[in-house]
Amino acid sequence: MKKNITIAIILLIFSFSSYSQSITDIINEVSIDSLEFKIKEFTGEQSTIVNGNTVTIRNRQQANNDVAAAYLKQRFEGMDNISVAEQNFNSRGKNIIATQLGKTNPDDIYIVCAHYDTVADYCADDNASGTIAVLEIARILSTQCLDNTIIYALWDEEEGGPTNGLAGSRYYANQASNNGDNILGVLNIDMMGYDGNDDNKFDIDVQNIAGSVAMKNDILSVFNSYSFGNLDPITVNPGTPASDHSSFWNEGYSAVLVGESWETNDQTPFYHSSRDREATIDMPYYTELAKLVTAYMVTKGSLVSVDNTVSLSGNVLTANETAANYQWINCDTNSPISGATNQSYTPTSTGSYAVELTSGTCTEVSKCFEIDLLGVNTFSAGEINLYPNPVKTVLNIEMTASKDYTFNIYDTGGKLILKRESSVLNSTLNLKDLSKGVYFLNVETSEKSGTFKIIKE
Ligand SMILES: [Zn+2]
Repeated sequence: MKKNITIAIILLIFSFSSYSQSITDIINEVSIDSLEFKIKEFTGEQSTIVNGNTVTIRNRQQANNDVAAAYLKQRFEGMDNISVAEQNFNSRGKNIIATQLGKTNPDDIYIVCAHYDTVADYCADDNASGTIAVLEIARILSTQCLDNTIIYALWDEEEGGPTNGLAGSRYYANQASNNGDNILGVLNIDMMGYDGNDDNKFDIDVQNIAGSVAMKNDILSVFNSYSFGNLDPITVNPGTPASDHSSFWNEGYSAVLVGESWETNDQTPFYHSSRDREATIDMPYYTELAKLVTAYMVTKGSLVSVDNTVSLSGNVLTANETAANYQWINCDTNSPISGATNQSYTPTSTGSYAVELTSGTCTEVSKCFEIDLLGVNTFSAGEINLYPNPVKTVLNIEMTASKDYTFNIYDTGGKLILKRESSVLNSTLNLKDLSKGVYFLNVETSEKSGTFKIIKE
C-alpha cells in the first residue's frame, strides 16, 4: 500500500512538473539595450517610424503629443495577447490603454502605468523612463498567458496645464470606479532613471489608503525574493500625491508610486527642462528598477504554466512544451505553415520560424529562430545511400567519399536517440532497439549536412 502511494505521488509530480518559464526567466528578459533604444526613440535622440512615416518625437507636450501617442499605440498593437485602445477624455487629451486579459480571473485587474506627456523637449527621465518601462514590461509579459488581467496604461495630461494635471488618470480612475472595476493594485512609475550619487536608493510612495500599504509590502517581498543589483528601497509614508497614483487613491483603490529618490534629494537636477536627456539617465539603475516592476507585475499577473521555449538540434526545431496543440509559423510572412502541427518541425528552406502553442484557453508564441540552410551545403543525390528504408534492424549507410561523419538520429519530438561517428565509406547503424515509427537521421561532415527520414518497422 505504501509503495503504491509512493508511485502515485511520483506520477503526480511528473504530470505537473513540465518546465515553464519562471519569474526569474521573465525578469532576465528585461533588456538594457531594449530600454535604451526605446528611450532614444521616444525622446527624439533618434528618429523612428510611426504609421509608416519617419518621425522624430522630441517634444511630447500636451498640445503636441499625438505622434507620441501613435508610437505607443503602434508598439502595443505589435504584441500578442494584448488589445489596445485610445481613451479620449477631453478635446485633446488621450490615454493609451493596453489590456492583457487574464485567462483565469479576467475581472481581477492590476495596472502598471506612467504618464507620457511632458513640459519641455526630451524629458527622458520625466517621464519617458516610466513610459518605456511600461512598454518593455508589456513586450515581455505579452508573450505569456497570465491568470489575472494586466492593464498597461499610459496617461496624457499628468503635467500641469489647462487641467491642472493628472487629468488622464483622474478620468480613467473615475470611470473604473463607476464601472465597479475590481482593480487590485496600481503601480505608477514617474521618473525612475536618475541616481546622481550612485547609492541605488529608490522610493516607494504610499499612503494608508485601501490596501496600498499591503501592496508596498508585496513589492518589498518581491524585492527580497529575487536579485536586483544593489537597489535599496525607501518607503515613504505618507508619500507624495503629485502623480497619477493619487487619482486611484481618490477613488479608494490601492496604489503606489515607484521611482528615483526624492526622499534623499537625489531626483534629476534637469527636472522639467530640455536638459532632461537620455545621456543623464543611469541605465543600469533604471534597468534594475524596471526589473523590479516587471517581477511585481508578473507575480500578480500569475503565469499560466505553458512553456513557449524551443530547442534547436541540427535543423530540427522542437517545442519544449509537451501538452499542447502546435502550429509552426513562418516569421518572415507571419503565416502558419500548412501541415506543420507536430511538436517538432524541420524547415526545408532558409528562414525564420516560431511555434504557436495552444493549451486550453492559452495561446503563446515562441521566439523566432533563424534557420540558415544556405551556409551548410546539403548532400546531393547519390552522395549518400541509405537502405533498407523502412528498416527492421540494421540500416546501411554508404558514402561516396571518405570523411569524418557524424550520425545523429532524432525522434519526431526532436530528441536525440542515437549518435555515432565514422570515417569509413560504409557504415551500419543497429536500430533493433528503437520502437516502431518515424525518425530523422542527420548526417554531418565539416562541409555538409543532410537530414533523412527513416521509418522503423
Ligand atoms: Zn512626471
